[in-house]
Amino acid sequence: MPERDSLEFDILFVGAGPASLAGAYHLSRLIEEHNSCIERGVRGGQKLGEISIAVIEKGREVNSHSFSGAILDPRALRELIPDFAKRGAPVVTPVVKDRIYYLTERGKCPLPLIPPPMSNHGNYVVSLGKFVAWLAEQCEEKGINVFPEFPGVELLFDGDRVVGVHSGDKGLDKDGRPKANYEPGPDLFAKVTVLGEGPRGTLTKRLVKKCHLDAGRAPQVYSLGMKETWQLATDRLPEGMVTHTLGYPLGPKLFGGGFLYMRRDGVLDVGLVVGLEYEDPRTDPHWLFGKWKQHPLVADLLHGAKLVSYGAKAIPEGGLFSQPRLLHDGVMIIGDAASFLNSQRLKGIHLAMKSGMLAAEAIFECFLANDFSLAGLESYPEKYRRSWAYEELYRVRNFHQAFHGGLFAGTLHAALQMISGGRGLRDPWPIGAGHERMRKLGVISAQESGGRTEGRMEGRGGSVATSIPLPPPHPSPSPFLPSSEKQYDPSITFDKLTDVFHSNTSHDEDQPCHLHVLDVNVCKDRCTYEYGNPCQYFCPAAVYEIVPREGGNIPFIHFSNCVHCKTCDIMDPYQIIDWVPPQGGDGPNYKNM
Ligand code: SF4
Repeated sequence: MPERDSLEFDILFVGAGPASLAGAYHLSRLIEEHNSCIERGVRGGQKLGEISIAVIEKGREVNSHSFSGAILDPRALRELIPDFAKRGAPVVTPVVKDRIYYLTERGKCPLPLIPPPMSNHGNYVVSLGKFVAWLAEQCEEKGINVFPEFPGVELLFDGDRVVGVHSGDKGLDKDGRPKANYEPGPDLFAKVTVLGEGPRGTLTKRLVKKCHLDAGRAPQVYSLGMKETWQLATDRLPEGMVTHTLGYPLGPKLFGGGFLYMRRDGVLDVGLVVGLEYEDPRTDPHWLFGKWKQHPLVADLLHGAKLVSYGAKAIPEGGLFSQPRLLHDGVMIIGDAASFLNSQRLKGIHLAMKSGMLAAEAIFECFLANDFSLAGLESYPEKYRRSWAYEELYRVRNFHQAFHGGLFAGTLHAALQMISGGRGLRDPWPIGAGHERMRKLGVISAQESGGRTEGRMEGRGGSVATSIPLPPPHPSPSPFLPSSEKQYDPSITFDKLTDVFHSNTSHDEDQPCHLHVLDVNVCKDRCTYEYGNPCQYFCPAAVYEIVPREGGNIPFIHFSNCVHCKTCDIMDPYQIIDWVPPQGGDGPNYKNM
C-alpha cells in the first residue's frame, strides 16, 4: 500500500479561481520587488529567501471548473498586471452597449435608462475559463506551482491553528476500499493556507462552522446561475452587446433575471439566474431557464444557432453582512468563499481578485516581520476595510436583502438605497437563509385553494401534501408547461441530461459518492410528505432521482452527472446534503465558460 506523502510550502492557496491566482501572483510580485529594491539599495532590510507558493485545484485542468457570466470590471486586473493587454490577456471584447428589458410572456419593454451601477461602460465580456488559464500561466512564469486534480478535502490543524490541507485520495472504490490504482492524497502543509474555493466551499464551510466565523453575521444567501454558450452567425449581434432581462418567467416573487452577452467570433452567453430562496419546493430553476429561452427575445437569437456548452454554479449574493470573519489562526478566506460579490452589479471577479491581493499584502508583511501568527494575519481585514472593495460592497450592503419582498418592492428599495448610500429603509436589512423560506406542500396547497390553514397539513402523511400536483422530474421539461403555452421547442430547450452532456462532466463511477445524504430516513419519512423531495427539481443536472418505496420515497443519486454547482448543499430544506469533493480531476470540464 503506498504511503501518504507530505509536502511543505510557505503559502498554499486552495482553488485556482481568480481570487487565489491573483493572490499568488501579487504575493510573488511583492517579494520580487522587495528583493530587487534591496539589491539596488533603494530599501533597507533583509532580502527574503526563496518562497514556495502553491495553488491546488480540484478540476482536471486549472480552468475546468471556471464558470461565470461573465463581465469583467478590469479595476483589479489593472492593479495586478497593468500591461495585461500586451501580455495577451483574453480580455478583448469591450462592452459596446447595455440593454435591460422587462419581459412579459410574449412581450418586452426596454428600460429607458440604464441605472448607473448596471452600466458596463469600460468593462469586458470574457470567458472566465480562458481568463483563469491565462492568469495561471502568469503565475507559473513566476515560479508558482499550480496543481490541478488536487481537491482539498480536510483542513489540518495543530491545536487550534490551521497548518495545511489534506488532499483527496485517488483510486478508492465505491465502498472506500483502495483499488489497484490507489494513490493517497498528500498532506500539504503551509505557514498560511488561503481558501479561495468558490461559493459554499467544503473546507470553508467546515472552518466557519467549527470556529464560529459567522457569529453575529447574516446567513449567506445564494442564487443559481445556469448558462449555455451558443455559436451564432458572427453578424447576428454586435460583439460586446450586453442584454439583461427581468420579469418573465420568474414573475414578481422570484429573484433573478436573464443575461445575453455577445462575445467575439459569434459566441453568445445565454444564462438565467434564479434566487435560491423561493417558497415553492416544486420550483425547478432549469425548467425556468428553458421557459426563458422560449421567450421571443431569446428564441429568435437561438433558432439556427448551435448549443456549444452548459454549466451551472451557485452565486453568493449576501454581500458585506454575510461575510464571515475573514481569517482564523493560520488561514484566510478570499473570493466567493468569503462573499466578495456585488449582487447589484452582478459582478464578483474584480472583487475576488482584490480580496486575494489584499490577503497577499498581509502575508507579505508576515514574511517581513517573520510573524505568521493570528495577530500577524490580522492586517488582511484591516486592509480590506480601507480598500475600494469594501467601499463598493458597503454601498450595496442591503441590495439583495431588499428583494425578499419581491421584484417591485425590491426595485423601489434599491432606488432608495442608491440615493442614501446603501442605507435604504432598514440598515442592516435582516435576512434568513434561503432554504428556510421554502414552504411545505400542505401550506402551499392550502394557499392555492384559498384556505387559511398554515401548518394544518404539515408533517407526515398530510393528505393535501400528497394530492398537490407534483411536476414529473427529469428528463423532459415538456410536461411542466401549462397547456396554455406553446409547445416545448426541442431545438432550443433541452432536458437536464442533454445539458449535462454539454458540460463535459465525468466522474469515475466506482468511487465513493460525493453527495452525502446524512439521513435517508428524512427523505423517506418527512421530505416526501412535507416538501415533495425538492432535490429532484432544484438540481440542474438530474442527479437526484426519486424512487418510490412503500412508506416514502428515497433518492437514487446519479452523482456522475453532478456539475458541482452546490445547490443541493444550499437548498435542501433539512440541510442534510453535504457536498464533498469527488476524486481529483472529476466533475465538469468547462472549455470556454
Ligand atoms: Fe448541483 Fe448538487 Fe446537482 Fe451536483 S448534485 S449538480 S452540486 S445540485
